[in-house]
Amino acid sequence: CGVFGVVGVSDAANFVALGLHALQHRGQEAAGIVSHDPAGGFHSVREFGYVRDNFTRASLMQTLPGPIAIGHVRYSTAGSKGATAIRDVQPFFGEFSMGGCAIAHNGNLTNAAALRRELIERGSIFQSSSDSECIIHLMARSIQKTIAERLKDALRRVEGAFSVIAMTRTKLIGVRDPLGVRPLVLGRVGDGWALSSETCGLDIIGAEFVREIEPGEMVVIEDGKVNSHRPFAPAKSRFCIFEQVYFSRPDSILGGRSVYETRRQIGVELAREAPVEADLVCPVPDSGTPAAIGYAHESGIPFGMGIIRNQYVGRTFIEPTEQIRNMGVRLKLNVNRALIAGKRVVLVDDSVVRGTTSRKIKEMILDAGAAEVHFRIASPPTAWPCFYGVDTPERSKLLAASMTENQMRDYLGVDSLRFISLDGLYRAAGEAKGRNPEAPQFCDACFSGDYPVAPADMLERGFEM
Ligand code: 5GP
Ligand code: SF4
Ligand code: MG
Repeated sequence: CGVFGVVGVSDAANFVALGLHALQHRGQEAAGIVSHDPAGGFHSVREFGYVRDNFTRASLMQTLPGPIAIGHVRYSTAGSKGATAIRDVQPFFGEFSMGGCAIAHNGNLTNAAALRRELIERGSIFQSSSDSECIIHLMARSIQKTIAERLKDALRRVEGAFSVIAMTRTKLIGVRDPLGVRPLVLGRVGDGWALSSETCGLDIIGAEFVREIEPGEMVVIEDGKVNSHRPFAPAKSRFCIFEQVYFSRPDSILGGRSVYETRRQIGVELAREAPVEADLVCPVPDSGTPAAIGYAHESGIPFGMGIIRNQYVGRTFIEPTEQIRNMGVRLKLNVNRALIAGKRVVLVDDSVVRGTTSRKIKEMILDAGAAEVHFRIASPPTAWPCFYGVDTPERSKLLAASMTENQMRDYLGVDSLRFISLDGLYRAAGEAKGRNPEAPQFCDACFSGDYPVAPADMLERGFEM
């Protein structure tokens, strides 16, 4: 998901709509905005579909006045799947004795099921099936006197990954979980302030990037000032390495580094680790493109767009049902026959999850007359599900959970298949010495099975680590 908030500008909701549009790659099922103006109180609009299809209509935007607003773009990892109910669309809202509060959450809480059971037993009435709603109910039960303090109380009880943006009538609040699994950045816009999942959200509104919210930090912005709090016990940062590989936009800056540059460097590392004789390096667009550029550069093999992407189709992985995903590949990608015919082709993609994409693409490339197909993957084999906000399927559906690299090669029917090593990936992400096995610098659980936060709800349901 993606979260965005602005305070201290007129018509804040317009800025939020733009910010969410820039974060659309983080969630395409639905979007919501809450604003507040002193005369009318809180206003809320939640809609299915793209930001641009709803939050550009003047008649709708007029219903969201005021100098403070937050928003959310949703992709379902927790809560209802497929047919997302509108009640699961954020921001969520709670009315407390000291006033109202809206929250927008990116990430996934790993103890939400247990918390929900407990809260329901003690009288909470849940409105949605979303893990994030726990935060509102925990806030309601807190005895603290301010909303920021209640939010701290609530977030000390939840486990897992969260970048949360909250707003009251006057305050904009941003928090990252102690490990900082999901991103969140602070920007300056005119006399006001903005919080965004990624820096690309700041760019679109002409905000200046100030800094990242640190892992375990809460910022409370009021009266034009930013106050920093440390509600949690200190911990070592474990940012999601898959944000670097796929999830974030390539024009964003993460940890002081360009995501594009990291991805290009993954391609360079891959070319060193897994060279092959070939005539053409093609990305599987768009997610494989920067790595393919790096691979081509390092190997000296010409780069070409052998697969063309229809720009009017979104991210296929993010389509929640198998059927749509299967169709998705053909709807989205087509082969550039004139370029491919007769050539030995290196195809570079970001990841192999179920193998659906790779299988379809291999067929399309061979039908177009390619002489050989070599897959190079910009992440290690995805062998473990993510419980922190990226929608990987259950373990049994992950190709790499039950197959070796060579078995996957045969299953996909390609001439060769190689994944970047975990160390190679860390080097590309700026860790010159690779992964520190005693204290890994990133979360990489979907590749290593090393979960930085025990997935309590899943363990209770019988998941074996
Ligand atoms: P597959 O077809 O193997 O199941 O999925 C791999 C494709 O899904 C890749 O092309 C990748 O770009 C895309 N992808 C999109 N979202 C995700 C995600 O959340 N996780 C992973 N691992 N791959 C994703
Ligand atoms: Fe990111 Fe993978 Fe960790 Fe999930 S398990 S947070 S996708 S690195
Ligand atoms: Mg892809």
